[in-house]
Order: sequence, then structure tokens, then C-alpha cells
Amino acid sequence: MIKQLLVVFQVLSLLFLASAAAVAQSGQSFQSNSLSKQVTPKADNHQHVFSPAMAEFQKIKPVTAQDIIRLLDTAGIKRAVLLSTAYSYGRPEREPQDEYAKVKAENDWVGAQAALFPKRFRAFCSFNPLKDYALDELERCAKDPNLRHGIKLHFGNSDAQMEIPEHFEKLKKVFQAANKQRMAIVVHMRVSISKKRPYGPEQARLFLELLSFAPDIPVQIAHMAGAGPGFNDPSSHSVLEVLADAVAKNDRRTRKLWFDVTTIAVPGNSAEISALLVKRIRQIGVNRILYGSDAAVGSNPNLLPREAWAAFRRLELSKKEIKTIAKNVAPYLR
Ligand SMILES: [Zn+2]
Repeated sequence: MIKQLLVVFQVLSLLFLASAAAVAQSGQSFQSNSLSKQVTPKADNHQHVFSPAMAEFQKIKPVTAQDIIRLLDTAGIKRAVLLSTAYSYGRPEREPQDEYAKVKAENDWVGAQAALFPKRFRAFCSFNPLKDYALDELERCAKDPNLRHGIKLHFGNSDAQMEIPEHFEKLKKVFQAANKQRMAIVVHMRVSISKKRPYGPEQARLFLELLSFAPDIPVQIAHMAGAGPGFNDPSSHSVLEVLADAVAKNDRRTRKLWFDVTTIAVPGNSAEISALLVKRIRQIGVNRILYGSDAAVGSNPNLLPREAWAAFRRLELSKKEIKTIAKNVAPYLR
């Protein structure tokens, strides 16, 4: 009788062990499934910090590198480029006194912020490319270990118009100098919307011409050649079409061209806009598409890195395509 009870007990404990193992295993596979479902970008290839002085100038709150670390950690993103917005001081008719001194101070502050977390950040210097001090500032940044990786240009804010020969000449000089210093360029090429500047196939072709002066450095077009948030802008569609065609035809000038999807895929997009985005992303090729989320500041803030990625993932791209884009890291961040 005792022997029989012992056998029953042994069978029961074996059953218990087996079911415990099964539970553990299913728990583990549940966890690895949910992890593999949680594809997160390796980098945020379009971020900003703002010094207290710049924040006051732009009437926003300062944003520090520590603030961005918090946002990235929430999103599971390791690295980011912090783009200076010093070009804002050179916005036509908005220039403060001691403009260039303020530009330098902002670039230096952004560089020092990035240097607080050297394993996670790189800083880009910025300026209005049409200003007399543009090339001086580029050379100054090239010599600064915190700022030597690249420059950010904002054609809209700086009111740069490629079809004006003097503007084109100045832009050309900046592209050549960046190329010589091996500094990457992130460019918001969407020209001024408020001033209704021309933006279409001609501007796209002029931009491709500019690229021929910077053949050795990565150039990243911000917001898929639009401005964001969203992509409801027929002018940007026509520019992106010319650029995507050039990439698809292996135009040599586009060899080191990248596109960031920053603030472009938002929940309010129509089905048509989403389909157009998917079409252009595929035409360009997912290997050149970079994730970015931009600053979440001001009265109409952009989505935070985690939420912006969730919005981007709603595009009807395949899992493999999403994974590739998540893994893409701009060359200047590697
Ligand atoms: Zn931005």
C-alpha cells in the first residue's frame, strides 16, 4: 500500500514538473514572441536639443540631452543625432543682435550636450547657408570634435531658393566645403511655405545638381522632402517623385543619398497619402530610409519617439521592410 502510494506520488510529481516546464517554456516563447514583435529603431536620425537662450528666442521650453535620453529609453532607441537649430538666428527679418555670436553659442551648446553621452549622441552644427559667416562657421565646426560630424541646413527657415543663381552659388560652396571636411548634411529642403516659394520638379533637379558637389558625404533629406507633420503637400510629392526616380535609375549623384521619414507618417494621414508614402519608400528602397522623430516642443508638438514609431509602423509595409528601416543607422552615427 505504501509502495503504491509512493508510485502515485512519484507520478504526480513528474506530472507537476512536466507541466511546470511547459508553463516556463510557453512563458519564454511568449516573451520572445512579444520581443520580436517589438521591433524598435536602432537610432533616431532626426532629433533636436534647445539651449535656454534658443528656447527663449523660439518661445519654447529648453530641451537637454538628458531629456532626449529619457524619450529614447522609453522607445528602446539607443542612438540619436542632435541637430542644432542655430540657423533660426539667421532667419531673414528675424535676426537678433549679435547674430553670429548667438549662432556659435548655440552650436557649441548642442555639441557639449551631445558630448555628455558620447555613446548615444552625435551633434550637428547649423547655420543659414546664405549668410556671410556660413563658411566660417562650417570650418569652425569642422575643427570642433563635438561638432565635426555634420551640418543641418533648413532651406525653409533660411529662405534659400535654389533657382536664384546667387543662392545656388552659396549653397554650392557650403556643399563643397562640407564634402571637403567630410561632414554629412541633413537638409530640410522644403522651401518656405509661408512665403509661398516655388517648390517642384525644377527645385528637385537643382538639388540633384547640388549633390554633385558633395559626392563623398552622406546627404539626408529630412521629412521625405516635405516639411511635416503629415505629408499633405502636393509640391513635396512632386519633388520626392523626381528624387525617387533619380535613385531608382541609379543616378550617380544619389549614391550617398538618404531620406528620413521624420513626422511624415502621422495618424491623421489619408489612405491615399499612406499609399503614396509606401510607394515612394519602395521606389527609393528601404535600405536608404531612416527613422527620425523630431522635437516634441511648442504649441503643436510632434509625436514622441515611441509614439512616432508606432505611427510609422501603421504604414502597409511588410514586416521585413519595417525591420530593415528599424535597423538602418545613418553613416554619421556609426
Ligand atoms: Zn527637425
